[in-house]
Amino acid sequence: MEPLTDKAIRASFVNCSKGEASRLKLPAGFRELPWEDLDFLGWRDPGAPLRAHLVLPSPTGPNGLTGVSLRVPDATRTSAVKSSMCQFCLTGHASSGVTLFAAPLAGAAGRQGNTVGVYACDDLACSLYLRGKRQPKLRSARYEESLTLEERTARCLGNVAAFVDKVTGGR
Ligand SMILES: [Zn+2]
Repeated sequence: MEPLTDKAIRASFVNCSKGEASRLKLPAGFRELPWEDLDFLGWRDPGAPLRAHLVLPSPTGPNGLTGVSLRVPDATRTSAVKSSMCQFCLTGHASSGVTLFAAPLAGAAGRQGNTVGVYACDDLACSLYLRGKRQPKLRSARYEESLTLEERTARCLGNVAAFVDKVTGGR
């Protein structure tokens, strides 16, 4: 993806207040991110361990981007995590490598506390796993696919876009 600016990222969020978007912390090493290896930007908030964010190129979003803010259920509930496969990039991890993220829905539904959840790579670095630039700590079950990298990144982006559509209600 094209390198993003701080301003464009903060303007892209569809499911949090402008105040929250202005306060969130960008990923560590933001200026040196390997943009050419990223299909979307996903990160854990360095200033708030139970927050995470993802920003996806999207024709309908503000400035061609849609940003979604995510919550990580607190540690007392993470033992409920069953899945070991990221639902975005389908990378298999040991169970601690996959986290259940919950995104408040956009608009009034979200303010009433409604969320949509997804199991995803704990660090949201799906793009790097797909390219072999980052390795799962422990692979639970490796399964080989005959798809090309391009096909797998397209599938991953499609999965992320489908999740974002659930958050925005398809708007
Ligand atoms: Zn992933």
